[in-house]
Amino acid sequence: MTKVKEFVSRMPMMMTCGEIEAVLLDYVEDQLSPYARFKFELHIKMC
Ligand SMILES: [Zn+2]
Repeated sequence: MTKVKEFVSRMPMMMTCGEIEAVLLDYVEDQLSPYARFKFELHIKMC
């Protein structure tokens, strides 16, 4: 699992914690595109 997390965190599409904070409000208000929401949820799972 640690290796998976390491691998995913190196993917170019992976959002940083700072990016997550920036879009957090949009996520809560359901303003994100499906792709942005996918990236957001992926980060939350891995973070
Ligand atoms: Zn994070």
